[in-house]
Amino acid sequence: MTKLLEESRRTAARLRILAEASERFAEAGLDLAALLREVTRKIADDVGDMAVVWMLSGDTTSLDPLAMRHRDPQSHEVLVEMLRAAQTRPEDGLLGRAMATKQTLFLPRTSSGDVLAGLSLDARPHGGRLGIHSLIVVPLKGRSRAVGSLVVARSRGSSAHTEADKELVEDLARHAGFAIENALLFEREKAARRVAEGARERLTLLADASTILGSSPDVEATVESLARLVLPGFADLCMVDLMDPDEERWHVALAHVDPRKERLLRVARGRLDDGHRDGRALAPIEERRPLLNQHLAAEESRKEGDSPAPPRADDEIRQALRQSGVRWSILVPLWARGRPLGMISFGREIDGPPYTEEDLTWADELGRRVAVVIDNARLFQNAQQAVRVRDEFLGIAGHELKTPLTALQLSLQGLARLPGLGGAGGSGSTPDVASRRLGSCLRQVDRLGKLTNELLDVARIKAGRLSLQRESVDLVALTREVIARMADELARAGCLVALQADDVLVGCWDRERIDQLLTNLISNAAKYGKGKPIALVLRRTDGAAELAVRDEGIGVAPEDQTRIFERFERAVSERNYGGLGLGLWIVRQIVEVHGGVVRVESAVGQGSTFTVDLPLSAA
Ligand code: ADP
Repeated sequence: MTKLLEESRRTAARLRILAEASERFAEAGLDLAALLREVTRKIADDVGDMAVVWMLSGDTTSLDPLAMRHRDPQSHEVLVEMLRAAQTRPEDGLLGRAMATKQTLFLPRTSSGDVLAGLSLDARPHGGRLGIHSLIVVPLKGRSRAVGSLVVARSRGSSAHTEADKELVEDLARHAGFAIENALLFEREKAARRVAEGARERLTLLADASTILGSSPDVEATVESLARLVLPGFADLCMVDLMDPDEERWHVALAHVDPRKERLLRVARGRLDDGHRDGRALAPIEERRPLLNQHLAAEESRKEGDSPAPPRADDEIRQALRQSGVRWSILVPLWARGRPLGMISFGREIDGPPYTEEDLTWADELGRRVAVVIDNARLFQNAQQAVRVRDEFLGIAGHELKTPLTALQLSLQGLARLPGLGGAGGSGSTPDVASRRLGSCLRQVDRLGKLTNELLDVARIKAGRLSLQRESVDLVALTREVIARMADELARAGCLVALQADDVLVGCWDRERIDQLLTNLISNAAKYGKGKPIALVLRRTDGAAELAVRDEGIGVAPEDQTRIFERFERAVSERNYGGLGLGLWIVRQIVEVHGGVVRVESAVGQGSTFTVDLPLSAA
């Protein structure tokens, strides 16, 4: 009878514990950590003496003690120490066996030695102090598989577990198993959502970064904005180290979420003047691949016995980094066309999450884009510099050529005026050959003079020095003058010129420049329309003069008709036609400073018509 009473009391107690446990587990809800704490506390208190929940890691490669409890506070500390040192693989020892068989292991009278044998070496001393002698290991079963193990043990001085204890632990484990699995599913769902959100954020960040990268040709300003863009979401600290092409100067962009720490780092970085940079901090550039979670402030490994290295400027930045609390990092070396450009370092503080492989891939992608942009910007700067140097050179060369050329031209003209060489008062006995040669020399010198002037015009126009000396000019008279001056050249080209014009067509223009414009257009017509007639038409239109120069030469293909007005642009081969590709460009400049327009109508083999509209007066 007493036995029956005892039995029913025990059952009632067990039901009460279970009901209470279910309630507590439900209260802990989906918060896994709270739930596990509750499970171990309940079991350590109600069954005794200690309880540990081991959970299978997400990738199922390890078993980790996620919650633990000893009802005696001192022993609790020892238990924590022991578990910190324990290393457990899912297939090892008693825990592994319980999980594999999904069966409870009930060892009410095991020896402390047996328990210790199952522990890793480091954990044994602590285990010894706990003096475990009674053990229950229950697999924690989810709906489909074991998610971990629950270990319940008693220390020296407590009685051995009974069969009833074992059953109670099993019941509790069943309740806990379902609750844990629900909480786990919720955690995983949360983690998956975090990953998806992270991916979306990274994508947005990359789009923003691309906008910044495309916004300005100023590389240094661009990387400054970029360093700030990745804060605070992707990094707490971002540094961009850029080598100058001559590798003697560095540019550093630096941004930290905490302005005080940023100042500290900037000061340290500022001392890193170029001569003192020992390169250790930038060694990862040589790696050519991004590096994950290397300590930004890493010490160089030093062998024992080595004397301490003398302090270097890099040490200061390393110390500043250590003080700033940066722990996780991604280092992305920047390379373009086989050359190193620098490095981007991202850092997160110790309490932030470590960087993941996805973060690394993202940072690498960003690094690639940054490298391309820097490289392009530098190529662009170099090209601009080269163009500046060329224009400067053209100006200087033009001047240098002009002086001896003018002297030569004057001498030849003087010679030509000498009696006997075609000048007045000649006897007529001058050998034809000498005067012919002299004429040829004069023509070549004229040509050289024209080319030199074109070069000088490039320099002048690029420097914005094409100023106009406007005066009243009769375009008809000027055109006749130019045709007359070019009579020899036109005759040699076999071109007859027909001029169709009113008596006068007066406008306010720069005489010399309009002369140059006419000369260029007519000599092109003669050059590209050899042997064919040239028609010049001058008309007055509404407030403007229209000049059309029509030849019947080789013509210009439609795709070339815009570019021939650009500097150095030509649509013919050098072998067939000489020239610098400047004549039409100069024509366009002259027309445009006069407020007019020039255009061409042409078809290959059908001749060309160049038409200029010149406002009669300045706007
Ligand atoms: P250049 O004659 O020294 O090459 P220009 O600037 O005067 O330089 O002309 C640029 C190019 O335009 C020429 O190389 C040629 O291909 C084309 N071009 C100019 N005028 C004519 C023309 N009248 N007929 C056909 N092509 C022409």
